[in-house]
Amino acid sequence: MEKIAANLAIVKERIARAARDSGREPGDVTLVAVSKNQPDESVRAALDAGQRIFGENRVQEAQKRWEGLRATRTCPDLRLHLIGPLQTNKVRIALALFDVIETLDRPELAQALAEAQARMGHKIPCLIQVNTGEEPQKHGVKPGDLAGFVTLCRQTLGLEIRGLMCIPPADEPPALHFAFLAKLARSHGLRELSMGMSADYEKAIALGATCVRVGTSIFGSRDMPAPQPCAGDREEG
Ligand SMILES: *Cc1c(COP(=O)(O)O)cnc(C)c1O
Repeated sequence: MEKIAANLAIVKERIARAARDSGREPGDVTLVAVSKNQPDESVRAALDAGQRIFGENRVQEAQKRWEGLRATRTCPDLRLHLIGPLQTNKVRIALALFDVIETLDRPELAQALAEAQARMGHKIPCLIQVNTGEEPQKHGVKPGDLAGFVTLCRQTLGLEIRGLMCIPPADEPPALHFAFLAKLARSHGLRELSMGMSADYEKAIALGATCVRVGTSIFGSRDMPAPQPCAGDREEG
Protein backbone atom coordinates (compact mmCIF):
# COMPACT_ATOMS: atom_id res chain seq x y z
CA MET A 1 0.00 0.00 0.00
CA GLU A 2 3.02 2.26 0.46
CA LYS A 3 3.60 1.63 -3.19
CA ILE A 4 0.39 3.48 -4.03
CA ALA A 5 1.49 6.65 -2.25
CA ALA A 6 4.84 6.45 -4.07
CA ASN A 7 3.14 5.85 -7.43
CA LEU A 8 0.84 8.79 -6.86
CA ALA A 9 3.80 11.03 -6.13
CA ILE A 10 5.51 9.92 -9.34
CA VAL A 11 2.41 10.44 -11.47
CA LYS A 12 1.83 13.90 -9.99
CA GLU A 13 5.44 14.83 -10.61
CA ARG A 14 5.23 13.69 -14.23
CA ILE A 15 1.99 15.62 -14.70
CA ALA A 16 3.62 18.76 -13.32
CA ARG A 17 6.64 18.35 -15.57
CA ALA A 18 4.52 17.71 -18.68
CA ALA A 19 2.47 20.81 -17.89
CA ARG A 20 5.52 23.03 -17.41
CA ASP A 21 7.16 21.64 -20.55
CA SER A 22 4.24 22.93 -22.57
CA GLY A 23 4.10 26.28 -20.81
CA ARG A 24 1.13 25.42 -18.63
CA GLU A 25 0.56 25.49 -14.89
CA PRO A 26 0.63 22.07 -13.15
CA GLY A 27 -2.54 23.14 -11.35
CA ASP A 28 -4.37 23.33 -14.69
CA VAL A 29 -4.35 19.54 -14.97
CA THR A 30 -6.63 17.48 -12.74
CA LEU A 31 -5.62 13.94 -11.88
CA VAL A 32 -8.52 11.50 -11.77
CA ALA A 33 -7.34 8.31 -10.06
CA VAL A 34 -9.18 5.49 -11.80
CA SER A 35 -10.15 3.07 -9.04
CA LYS A 36 -12.43 0.76 -11.06
CA ASN A 37 -11.88 -2.93 -10.25
CA GLN A 38 -9.38 -2.12 -7.51
CA PRO A 39 -9.78 -3.39 -3.95
CA ASP A 40 -11.04 -0.94 -1.31
CA GLU A 41 -7.74 -1.12 0.57
CA SER A 42 -5.95 0.35 -2.45
CA VAL A 43 -8.47 3.16 -2.62
CA ARG A 44 -8.00 3.79 1.10
CA ALA A 45 -4.25 4.01 0.55
CA ALA A 46 -4.79 6.64 -2.15
CA LEU A 47 -7.12 8.57 0.16
CA ASP A 48 -4.49 8.40 2.91
CA ALA A 49 -1.96 9.80 0.44
CA GLY A 50 -4.24 12.78 -0.13
CA GLN A 51 -5.87 11.85 -3.44
CA ARG A 52 -9.44 13.16 -3.55
CA ILE A 53 -10.62 12.75 -7.14
CA PHE A 54 -11.51 9.27 -8.34
CA GLY A 55 -12.93 7.77 -11.53
CA GLU A 56 -15.24 4.77 -11.69
CA ASN A 57 -16.72 3.14 -14.76
CA ARG A 58 -19.69 1.23 -13.32
CA VAL A 59 -22.46 2.93 -11.41
CA GLN A 60 -23.51 0.13 -9.10
CA GLU A 61 -20.00 -0.99 -8.19
CA ALA A 62 -19.07 2.62 -7.48
CA GLN A 63 -22.17 3.01 -5.33
CA LYS A 64 -21.29 -0.05 -3.25
CA ARG A 65 -17.71 1.07 -2.72
CA TRP A 66 -18.14 4.75 -2.11
CA GLU A 67 -21.22 4.63 0.07
CA GLY A 68 -19.19 2.38 2.36
CA LEU A 69 -16.07 4.52 2.23
CA ARG A 70 -17.99 7.73 2.67
CA ALA A 71 -19.70 6.30 5.74
CA THR A 72 -16.39 5.42 7.41
CA ARG A 73 -14.49 8.56 6.45
CA THR A 74 -15.18 12.21 6.25
CA CYS A 75 -13.71 13.62 3.08
CA PRO A 76 -15.80 16.64 2.22
CA ASP A 77 -13.56 17.35 -0.75
CA LEU A 78 -13.99 13.89 -2.30
CA ARG A 79 -15.00 14.07 -5.99
CA LEU A 80 -16.19 11.16 -8.09
CA HIS A 81 -16.14 11.11 -11.88
CA LEU A 82 -18.17 8.65 -13.91
CA ILE A 83 -15.92 7.54 -16.77
CA GLY A 84 -17.90 4.54 -18.04
CA PRO A 85 -21.14 4.25 -20.02
CA LEU A 86 -24.33 5.35 -18.26
CA GLN A 87 -27.64 3.57 -18.77
CA THR A 88 -30.72 5.77 -18.66
CA ASN A 89 -32.25 3.68 -15.86
CA LYS A 90 -29.25 4.49 -13.63
CA VAL A 91 -29.25 8.23 -14.14
CA ARG A 92 -30.77 9.00 -10.75
CA ILE A 93 -28.23 6.90 -8.85
CA ALA A 94 -25.43 8.43 -10.89
CA LEU A 95 -26.68 11.94 -10.17
CA ALA A 96 -26.75 11.25 -6.44
CA LEU A 97 -23.30 9.65 -6.39
CA PHE A 98 -21.08 11.41 -8.94
CA ASP A 99 -19.79 14.96 -9.13
CA VAL A 100 -18.99 14.87 -12.85
CA ILE A 101 -20.32 12.68 -15.65
CA GLU A 102 -17.64 12.38 -18.32
CA THR A 103 -19.56 10.08 -20.63
CA LEU A 104 -22.60 11.91 -21.94
CA ASP A 105 -22.93 10.30 -25.35
CA ARG A 106 -26.47 10.23 -26.76
CA PRO A 107 -29.72 12.21 -26.87
CA GLU A 108 -31.79 9.75 -24.78
CA LEU A 109 -29.24 9.97 -21.99
CA ALA A 110 -29.07 13.77 -22.18
CA GLN A 111 -32.87 13.90 -22.00
CA ALA A 112 -33.01 11.49 -19.04
CA LEU A 113 -30.33 13.46 -17.24
CA ALA A 114 -32.12 16.78 -17.76
CA GLU A 115 -35.35 15.28 -16.39
CA ALA A 116 -33.63 13.72 -13.38
CA GLN A 117 -31.81 16.95 -12.62
CA ALA A 118 -35.05 18.90 -12.69
CA ARG A 119 -36.79 16.36 -10.45
CA MET A 120 -33.93 16.11 -7.97
CA GLY A 121 -33.16 19.84 -8.00
CA HIS A 122 -29.50 19.02 -8.41
CA LYS A 123 -27.27 19.72 -11.38
CA ILE A 124 -23.80 18.38 -12.14
CA PRO A 125 -21.25 19.26 -14.82
CA CYS A 126 -20.85 16.89 -17.75
CA LEU A 127 -18.36 16.13 -20.46
CA ILE A 128 -19.39 14.76 -23.81
CA GLN A 129 -17.60 11.57 -24.83
CA VAL A 130 -16.52 11.73 -28.46
CA ASN A 131 -15.80 8.59 -30.46
CA THR A 132 -12.87 10.21 -32.26
CA GLY A 133 -11.89 6.95 -33.96
CA GLU A 134 -15.50 6.30 -35.08
CA GLU A 135 -15.13 2.74 -33.78
CA PRO A 136 -18.42 0.83 -34.06
CA GLN A 137 -17.98 -0.97 -30.71
CA LYS A 138 -17.13 2.16 -28.78
CA HIS A 139 -19.35 4.65 -27.01
CA GLY A 140 -19.26 8.32 -27.80
CA VAL A 141 -20.78 10.86 -30.12
CA LYS A 142 -19.47 10.75 -33.69
CA PRO A 143 -17.47 13.87 -34.49
CA GLY A 144 -19.94 14.76 -37.25
CA ASP A 145 -22.84 14.68 -34.79
CA LEU A 146 -21.13 16.73 -32.11
CA ALA A 147 -22.35 20.20 -33.10
CA GLY A 148 -25.99 19.10 -33.02
CA PHE A 149 -25.51 17.23 -29.75
CA VAL A 150 -23.85 20.20 -28.04
CA THR A 151 -26.74 22.44 -29.09
CA LEU A 152 -29.29 19.92 -27.83
CA CYS A 153 -27.54 19.56 -24.47
CA ARG A 154 -26.91 23.24 -23.85
CA GLN A 155 -29.73 25.10 -25.54
CA THR A 156 -32.62 22.68 -25.47
CA LEU A 157 -31.91 20.79 -22.25
CA GLY A 158 -29.90 23.33 -20.27
CA LEU A 159 -27.22 20.84 -19.25
CA GLU A 160 -23.92 22.12 -17.92
CA ILE A 161 -21.47 20.99 -20.59
CA ARG A 162 -17.90 21.68 -19.54
CA GLY A 163 -15.91 19.88 -22.20
CA LEU A 164 -15.07 16.73 -24.11
CA MET A 165 -13.64 13.32 -23.32
CA CYS A 166 -12.19 10.59 -25.54
CA ILE A 167 -10.65 7.12 -25.44
CA PRO A 168 -8.48 6.77 -28.55
CA PRO A 169 -8.43 3.50 -30.52
CA ALA A 170 -5.88 1.07 -29.09
CA ASP A 171 -4.08 0.61 -32.39
CA GLU A 172 -3.59 4.22 -33.45
CA PRO A 173 -1.25 6.96 -32.23
CA PRO A 174 -3.21 8.63 -29.42
CA ALA A 175 -1.71 12.06 -30.19
CA LEU A 176 -3.79 12.32 -33.37
CA HIS A 177 -6.96 11.80 -31.35
CA PHE A 178 -5.91 14.15 -28.56
CA ALA A 179 -5.17 16.92 -31.07
CA PHE A 180 -8.48 16.27 -32.81
CA LEU A 181 -10.44 16.40 -29.54
CA ALA A 182 -8.71 19.65 -28.58
CA LYS A 183 -9.67 21.15 -31.92
CA LEU A 184 -13.29 20.06 -31.53
CA ALA A 185 -13.42 21.56 -28.03
CA ARG A 186 -12.00 24.87 -29.25
CA SER A 187 -14.48 25.09 -32.07
CA HIS A 188 -17.36 24.67 -29.59
CA GLY A 189 -15.93 26.99 -26.96
CA LEU A 190 -15.53 24.12 -24.45
CA ARG A 191 -12.76 24.36 -21.87
CA GLU A 192 -12.29 20.94 -20.31
CA LEU A 193 -10.48 18.14 -22.11
CA SER A 194 -10.45 14.72 -20.42
CA MET A 195 -7.86 12.68 -22.27
CA GLY A 196 -4.82 10.57 -21.47
CA MET A 197 -4.48 7.36 -19.45
CA SER A 198 -1.49 5.57 -17.88
CA ALA A 199 0.26 4.97 -21.20
CA ASP A 200 -0.12 8.43 -22.69
CA TYR A 201 -1.13 11.10 -20.17
CA GLU A 202 1.97 13.23 -20.73
CA LYS A 203 1.27 13.34 -24.45
CA ALA A 204 -2.31 14.33 -23.68
CA ILE A 205 -1.14 17.16 -21.42
CA ALA A 206 1.15 18.46 -24.17
CA LEU A 207 -1.93 18.59 -26.40
CA GLY A 208 -4.10 20.43 -23.89
CA ALA A 209 -5.61 17.86 -21.50
CA THR A 210 -7.13 19.52 -18.42
CA CYS A 211 -8.02 16.16 -16.89
CA VAL A 212 -6.10 12.87 -17.11
CA ARG A 213 -7.53 9.51 -16.04
CA VAL A 214 -4.83 7.29 -14.60
CA GLY A 215 -5.45 3.84 -13.13
CA THR A 216 -2.69 1.26 -13.64
CA SER A 217 0.22 3.63 -13.02
CA ILE A 218 -1.18 4.39 -9.56
CA PHE A 219 -2.82 1.16 -8.44
CA GLY A 220 -1.05 -1.51 -10.49
CA SER A 221 -2.90 -3.88 -12.78
CA ARG A 222 -6.54 -4.54 -12.04
CA ASP A 223 -7.47 -7.83 -10.35
CA MET A 224 -10.67 -8.31 -12.23
CA PRO A 225 -10.75 -8.00 -15.99
CA ALA A 226 -12.47 -4.75 -16.87
CA PRO A 227 -15.58 -5.74 -18.76
CA GLN A 228 -15.73 -3.95 -22.09
CA PRO A 229 -19.29 -2.73 -22.41
CA CYS A 230 -20.51 -2.65 -25.97
CA ALA A 231 -23.22 -0.68 -27.67
CA GLY A 232 -25.76 -3.47 -27.19
CA ASP A 233 -25.69 -3.62 -23.40
CA ARG A 234 -26.45 0.01 -22.71
CA GLU A 235 -29.96 -0.35 -21.43
CA GLU A 236 -29.63 -3.64 -19.58
CA GLY A 237 -29.53 -4.31 -15.88
C1 LIG B 1 -9.79 2.14 -17.14
C2 LIG B 1 -9.91 3.50 -17.69
C3 LIG B 1 -8.85 4.43 -17.54
C4 LIG B 1 -7.54 4.11 -16.84
O1 LIG B 1 -6.72 3.37 -17.67
P1 LIG B 1 -5.22 2.99 -17.19
O2 LIG B 1 -4.59 2.55 -18.44
O3 LIG B 1 -5.36 1.93 -16.16
O4 LIG B 1 -4.61 4.23 -16.66
C5 LIG B 1 -9.05 5.70 -18.06
N1 LIG B 1 -10.18 6.05 -18.69
C6 LIG B 1 -11.21 5.19 -18.86
C7 LIG B 1 -12.44 5.65 -19.55
C8 LIG B 1 -11.10 3.90 -18.37
O5 LIG B 1 -12.13 3.04 -18.55
